[in-house]
Formats: sequence, structure tokens, C-alpha cells
Amino acid sequence: MRLLISSIILFIGAVACSSATDNKPATDATKNAPNSHQSPSESSAMTFNKDSAYKYVADQVAFGPRVPGSPAHKACAKYLIDRLSGYGVNVETQRTDLTDISGNTFEMINIIGHINPEASKRILLLAHWDSRPWADNDPDPANHKTPIDGANDGASGVAVILEVARQLQLSSLDNLGVDILLTDAEDSGLSAPEDATPDQVQQYENSWCLGTQHWIKSNPWRDTPRPQFAILLDMVGGRDATFPIEYFSYQYAPDIVNLVLEASRKAGTTDRFPTQIGGAINDDHIHLNSAGIPTVDIIQTSHSGFNPTWHTIQDNLSNIDRATLAAVGHTILTLLLQQQ
Ligand SMILES: [Zn+2]
Repeated sequence: MRLLISSIILFIGAVACSSATDNKPATDATKNAPNSHQSPSESSAMTFNKDSAYKYVADQVAFGPRVPGSPAHKACAKYLIDRLSGYGVNVETQRTDLTDISGNTFEMINIIGHINPEASKRILLLAHWDSRPWADNDPDPANHKTPIDGANDGASGVAVILEVARQLQLSSLDNLGVDILLTDAEDSGLSAPEDATPDQVQQYENSWCLGTQHWIKSNPWRDTPRPQFAILLDMVGGRDATFPIEYFSYQYAPDIVNLVLEASRKAGTTDRFPTQIGGAINDDHIHLNSAGIPTVDIIQTSHSGFNPTWHTIQDNLSNIDRATLAAVGHTILTLLLQQQ
């Protein structure tokens, strides 16, 4: 994804900022231990497990950079399909050869899941699972052609969705269906050069989010109900991360932004979700909003832009914060419980 405007100072309510980190070693992901973001009112069986989510990040990173077309990419696709299937999710894949703006042709693999497929009311959760082929924002130019681990940029959003899927198998939602899109080839885009014409600028902006663009063109709701709304999770594992309201999310899906903020209040995670407009991001949600699905992008931004590890070789497991994963995951579970 690409930051179009780093910060729009527009407060729509009170802002509370504080944060916590938690670096305990990973434990058995099959346990369902409570976490620090469980509020007393949310003492249901569904409790987001931050250690489980962290393990899903570590598992993805262990394959190596998931650069589209690489062996690591293929192996990780199988892992994600197996994980989701193991949690009772109906999984399908969408595969096709795509060529990115750099001229690389690869097999794109979108991984699509359906939980409670009979339910007519549906919510879509999505995250990109590929990782950027180049650390082109690294402070050391020698790393600019090195692929990144993408622990935060890619793996973190997928990890939260995997843990949500696991929780939904443990304690299902009655009348709500959840669709999942683990989208590919989000992060192989390029920024337009300064002398680009308007048409070229548009071409460069469309060089991102190739998996989601392909998926929407394939008319995914031909035979199944359209989701009422969607939540995109992108870079949701950074240290001390906060998630101001993303600009386009507020433009296109203000009601869904309010649902997220309401869930955050109920989940006790308002320190991570300030009621303030943050950056404007070219990300997968742009294409869903254009297709008529109101979509919110939960993504870390600050006055200085993205997380400092963004598109650097420092986007690795050592910079993943369990407490951030927990805050986002618990907020999403709370939102789903409120919608059922
Ligand atoms: Zn990225």
C-alpha cells in the first residue's frame, strides 16, 4: 500500500493515546488463554489469543519473504489454506497469471473463505498475504532490492484473521456469516515518477492491490450474498501502533468507521483507535469501496507516516507486538459479536 497523504489533522472526538508492549515468548497456539484486552463485559467463550496470533505471524515469516511467484509464496499459500480449512472454514482459491508493473509475471493466489455460509447477513474480513519484493524504503540503499519479511506488512493482518477464524470455530456466531479474503499481490506496486502524466499516475496507483482488483473483476458475489461491509487489516502488529481513522474509510464508509470505534470502546481498546482522521492510503479498501462494499482500512499511521519499519528490512518478527495484535483482534471479535 502507499501513503497518499500522511496526516489530515481533523479531530472528530476526544483522543486518548497510550500504549503497552508485551514481549513474552510464544506459547502453544492451541490454548485459549485470556489476554489483557478482555473486558469484564466480554467474558464470552470468544477471546482473542495474542500468543496464537503471534505464532501465525511467525509461521508465515518462517517461509521467507512471500514474494509472488517464489517457492516461499507457494508454500505459504498451502499453509494458509490448511489453517483455514482446519478451522472449519470453506476455502476456495482463485489463481491466475498476472504481470506487475515491473514486468514480473507470477501466479497470483487469492485465498477466499466462508464461515457460516448459509447466513445471509455477511461481513468480509480481508488482509494481503504477499510481502513486498523490495525494501525500497530502507535507510540503507544497499537493501533496496532485498525482499522484506513482511511480518507487519502482510503477515500481521492475516494472523489476526486466522485467530478470529479459530475463535469462530470454538464459539460460532448464530446469524452472521463471515467471509475472508487473503488477497495476493497487494504490495508489488510502484510510485509514479515526478514527471508522470495524469494517465501514468493512475496506472501507477493501479499497480498496487492487484489481487483485490482481479477478485472484484471476477464478480465474486454472482452466486453468494454480498457482504454488508468489509474490514481491511493492514500492518496491525507494530510496536505501540495506533490506528487513526483512515481518510478514505471515513469518506466512503463513515457508518462502518463508527462501528469500529464503538467496538473499540466496548473492547477497551480506545488507546489504539483514536477518533482522529489519519492518513489517506491507496490500499485494497479503495477497490471494495468502488465496488459498493463499504470498507474500513484499519492501518497504522502517525504524523510521520507509516510504521518506521514500513518497506524496510526491519519489518521482521522482532518488531511485532503481541499487545497490538490483541487490541485489533479483540476489537474485531467484539464488532462481530455486536453484529450477530
Ligand atoms: Zn506494503
